[in-house]
Amino acid sequence: MSRSMFRKLIAALVLFAAPAAAQTIAIRAGSLIDPAKGTVSKGQVILVENGKITSVGAGAAIPKDAQVIDLSKEWVMPGLMDAHTHVTFEEIPGKAPFEAMYLKQSTAYRSLQGLYTSRVLLNAGFTTMRDVGNEAEYACIELRKALHEGWFTGPTLQCAGKIIGPFGGQSKGMPEEVGGFWLHEYIDADSPDEIRKAIHQNIYYGADVIKLASDNSDYFYTEEEIRAAADEAHNAGRALAVHVYGGKAADNVIRGGADSVEHGFELTVDQLKLMKEKGVYLVGTDFPEAHLAGLNPSNDKLADAKKLGEKIIARLSNANKIGVKMAFGSDTVTGMPGRTRADMVFDYLAVWRAAGVSPADILKAMTTNCADLLRINKERGTIAAGQYADIIAMPGDPFGDIETLRKVNFVMKDGKVVRPVN
Ligand SMILES: [Zn+2]
Repeated sequence: MSRSMFRKLIAALVLFAAPAAAQTIAIRAGSLIDPAKGTVSKGQVILVENGKITSVGAGAAIPKDAQVIDLSKEWVMPGLMDAHTHVTFEEIPGKAPFEAMYLKQSTAYRSLQGLYTSRVLLNAGFTTMRDVGNEAEYACIELRKALHEGWFTGPTLQCAGKIIGPFGGQSKGMPEEVGGFWLHEYIDADSPDEIRKAIHQNIYYGADVIKLASDNSDYFYTEEEIRAAADEAHNAGRALAVHVYGGKAADNVIRGGADSVEHGFELTVDQLKLMKEKGVYLVGTDFPEAHLAGLNPSNDKLADAKKLGEKIIARLSNANKIGVKMAFGSDTVTGMPGRTRADMVFDYLAVWRAAGVSPADILKAMTTNCADLLRINKERGTIAAGQYADIIAMPGDPFGDIETLRKVNFVMKDGKVVRPVN
């Protein structure tokens, strides 16, 4: 090849590699909700370029080559978030024990289940979710990698890897001869050193958040053990989420420095006050009674659906009155005939309403508060210049009726329209 031909070839390759000029998207937002402030601004224009919001305002000029999306009759807000999902997990229906999935489902199967479920939730308006374990051998993390590659459109996912707990995972009273079959999903860690090692293992395989299950048995983590976990997680820039129901185990979790209590169904008023004082989030996974009734009764703490349903509403009401920071978390893991996972997640809104939480506070718990807990509030959770364009819209006012969230009819993820307005 002559030198001039070589130069022409290089020039052609450079031209080929040059990025196309970014297409600007202009969204006309009739009513734009700011969940952090609980306010609505009318007649706004949101400009989006390269997946991010570049400006928001009433008077923003729309570039003439921009693609215009007309949401002028819609209520527009940041994408919803769920801080407690299990997208790679769905209980096998029937009388099989909850552990049956460890035996019957491979990690590959679970990843594909996660792809399906996370897209169902994205389509309903959940643009970010924190998945807190039960992902076999890192099925959520493999899914997250595939989404990062751009092979599929999906939500922003934070994954916990294996759940770390005292001996036995979340299985209680198994015969000794079946061995540690739960290690498919859990890491046994029974001292501060073992906890540190388990956290290293999870981070090595890609965990974004550290999840402990503290009081699934008659024994539970000490304050010292929780503190070791919090130090180790925080040193690596991760939040520490701890499954705990109540009692002394919850005292240890709150005092030990966890970032969030997951569930906390039995938290007392004093414990909730301590959480407020220490800035610990409640991710209440506030199950509706009908969902509790459908859960596998292998967990004795979930056995009486009616009683527990009432207890959850009372606890959520107390947390709300005390002013505990709350991030929305669903924990939906069962199927209901004819209903999607998203339908079931929206059922939790009735519990929040029954507990007297205002629509404004519910919207905050589903957006900015989650973003804060997930440590992504500089990137997501708000419609403002510099944030990723995770934007949803619905045809009514969710402040008037929070159930309007079920009618989300437009979803944009990282500046890409996933669900066109209909
Ligand atoms: Zn859970």
